[in-house]
Amino acid sequence: MEDCLFCKIIKGEIPSEKIYEDDDILAFNDINPLAPIHFLVIPKKHIASLAHIEAGEEQIIAKIYNIINKLAEEKGFKEKGYRVIVNCGEDGGQEVMHLHFHVLAGKKL
Ligand code: 5GP
Ligand code: ZN
Repeated sequence: MEDCLFCKIIKGEIPSEKIYEDDDILAFNDINPLAPIHFLVIPKKHIASLAHIEAGEEQIIAKIYNIINKLAEEKGFKEKGYRVIVNCGEDGGQEVMHLHFHVLAGKKL
Protein backbone atom coordinates (compact mmCIF):
# COMPACT_ATOMS: atom_id res chain seq x y z
CA MET A 1 0.00 0.00 0.00
CA GLU A 2 1.70 3.14 -1.25
CA ASP A 3 0.47 5.69 1.25
CA CYS A 4 0.49 3.48 4.31
CA LEU A 5 2.90 4.54 7.05
CA PHE A 6 3.44 1.02 8.38
CA CYS A 7 3.95 -0.42 4.87
CA LYS A 8 6.71 2.19 4.50
CA ILE A 9 8.23 1.02 7.79
CA ILE A 10 8.09 -2.59 6.53
CA LYS A 11 9.87 -1.56 3.31
CA GLY A 12 12.48 0.40 5.31
CA GLU A 13 11.46 3.70 3.70
CA ILE A 14 10.77 5.07 7.19
CA PRO A 15 13.23 4.07 9.95
CA SER A 16 12.06 2.15 13.00
CA GLU A 17 13.53 0.31 15.99
CA LYS A 18 12.79 -3.25 14.89
CA ILE A 19 12.69 -5.87 17.61
CA TYR A 20 11.45 -8.88 15.61
CA GLU A 21 11.03 -9.75 11.95
CA ASP A 22 10.14 -12.81 9.89
CA ASP A 23 8.52 -13.38 6.49
CA ASP A 24 5.04 -12.47 7.74
CA ILE A 25 5.43 -10.25 10.79
CA LEU A 26 7.31 -7.18 12.01
CA ALA A 27 7.55 -5.83 15.56
CA PHE A 28 9.01 -2.40 16.33
CA ASN A 29 9.02 0.10 19.19
CA ASP A 30 6.23 2.66 19.27
CA ILE A 31 7.52 6.17 18.56
CA ASN A 32 5.40 7.57 21.40
CA PRO A 33 5.62 4.95 24.18
CA LEU A 34 2.85 4.90 26.77
CA ALA A 35 4.74 2.47 29.05
CA PRO A 36 8.40 1.52 29.66
CA ILE A 37 7.88 -1.20 27.06
CA HIS A 38 5.57 -0.34 24.17
CA PHE A 39 5.94 -1.98 20.80
CA LEU A 40 3.70 -2.71 17.84
CA VAL A 41 3.31 -6.06 16.11
CA ILE A 42 2.03 -5.96 12.54
CA PRO A 43 1.43 -8.33 9.63
CA LYS A 44 3.64 -7.53 6.64
CA LYS A 45 0.59 -8.01 4.44
CA HIS A 46 -1.42 -4.80 4.38
CA ILE A 47 -4.65 -5.44 6.27
CA ALA A 48 -6.36 -2.15 7.11
CA SER A 49 -7.84 -3.15 10.47
CA LEU A 50 -9.25 -5.99 12.54
CA ALA A 51 -12.52 -5.39 10.67
CA HIS A 52 -10.80 -6.07 7.33
CA ILE A 53 -9.54 -9.58 8.05
CA GLU A 54 -10.66 -11.92 5.29
CA ALA A 55 -11.21 -15.66 5.27
CA GLY A 56 -7.86 -17.42 5.36
CA GLU A 57 -6.10 -14.58 7.16
CA GLU A 58 -6.96 -15.78 10.68
CA GLN A 59 -3.68 -17.68 10.86
CA ILE A 60 -1.71 -14.46 10.89
CA ILE A 61 -3.54 -13.38 14.05
CA ALA A 62 -2.67 -16.64 15.80
CA LYS A 63 0.94 -16.21 14.71
CA ILE A 64 1.04 -12.64 16.01
CA TYR A 65 -0.09 -13.82 19.47
CA ASN A 66 2.60 -16.49 19.44
CA ILE A 67 5.24 -13.87 18.61
CA ILE A 68 3.93 -11.60 21.37
CA ASN A 69 4.37 -14.40 23.92
CA LYS A 70 7.81 -15.24 22.57
CA LEU A 71 8.88 -11.58 22.88
CA ALA A 72 7.35 -11.37 26.38
CA GLU A 73 9.54 -14.28 27.42
CA GLU A 74 12.67 -12.95 25.70
CA LYS A 75 12.27 -9.46 27.12
CA GLY A 76 11.47 -10.74 30.60
CA PHE A 77 7.96 -9.37 31.16
CA LYS A 78 6.00 -12.59 30.68
CA GLU A 79 5.76 -13.28 34.42
CA LYS A 80 4.77 -9.76 35.50
CA GLY A 81 2.25 -9.39 32.71
CA TYR A 82 1.37 -7.12 29.85
CA ARG A 83 -1.50 -5.56 27.91
CA VAL A 84 -2.35 -6.10 24.25
CA ILE A 85 -4.52 -3.49 22.57
CA VAL A 86 -5.98 -3.38 19.08
CA ASN A 87 -7.76 -0.17 18.16
CA CYS A 88 -10.21 -0.66 15.31
CA GLY A 89 -11.70 2.08 13.16
CA GLU A 90 -12.55 5.68 13.92
CA ASP A 91 -14.54 5.13 17.11
CA GLY A 92 -11.93 2.60 18.27
CA GLY A 93 -9.25 5.28 18.09
CA GLN A 94 -7.28 3.73 15.23
CA GLU A 95 -5.01 6.34 13.65
CA VAL A 96 -2.85 4.19 11.38
CA MET A 97 -4.96 2.08 9.03
CA HIS A 98 -2.66 -0.95 8.98
CA LEU A 99 -3.61 -3.63 11.51
CA HIS A 100 -1.36 -3.42 14.57
CA PHE A 101 -1.24 -4.92 18.04
CA HIS A 102 0.05 -2.62 20.79
CA VAL A 103 2.02 -4.45 23.50
CA LEU A 104 2.51 -2.51 26.73
CA ALA A 105 4.50 -3.66 29.76
CA GLY A 106 7.04 -2.67 32.37
CA LYS A 107 4.72 -0.97 34.87
CA LYS A 108 1.35 -1.52 36.56
CA LEU A 109 -1.09 -0.47 33.85
P1 5GP B 1 -3.33 3.63 16.77
O1 5GP B 1 -3.80 4.88 17.42
O2 5GP B 1 -3.55 3.64 15.26
O3 5GP B 1 -3.83 2.38 17.41
O4 5GP B 1 -1.77 3.55 17.02
C1 5GP B 1 -0.81 4.03 16.15
C2 5GP B 1 0.49 4.01 16.89
O5 5GP B 1 1.54 4.20 15.95
C3 5GP B 1 0.63 5.12 17.94
O6 5GP B 1 0.87 4.55 19.22
C4 5GP B 1 1.81 5.95 17.44
O7 5GP B 1 2.62 6.43 18.49
C5 5GP B 1 2.54 4.99 16.54
N1 5GP B 1 3.26 5.63 15.45
C6 5GP B 1 2.77 6.59 14.62
N2 5GP B 1 3.71 6.94 13.72
C7 5GP B 1 4.80 6.17 13.97
C8 5GP B 1 6.10 6.06 13.37
O8 5GP B 1 6.44 6.74 12.40
N3 5GP B 1 6.96 5.17 13.92
C9 5GP B 1 6.63 4.39 15.00
N4 5GP B 1 7.56 3.55 15.46
N5 5GP B 1 5.41 4.46 15.59
C10 5GP B 1 4.51 5.34 15.08
ZN1 ZN C 1 0.03 -0.93 5.23
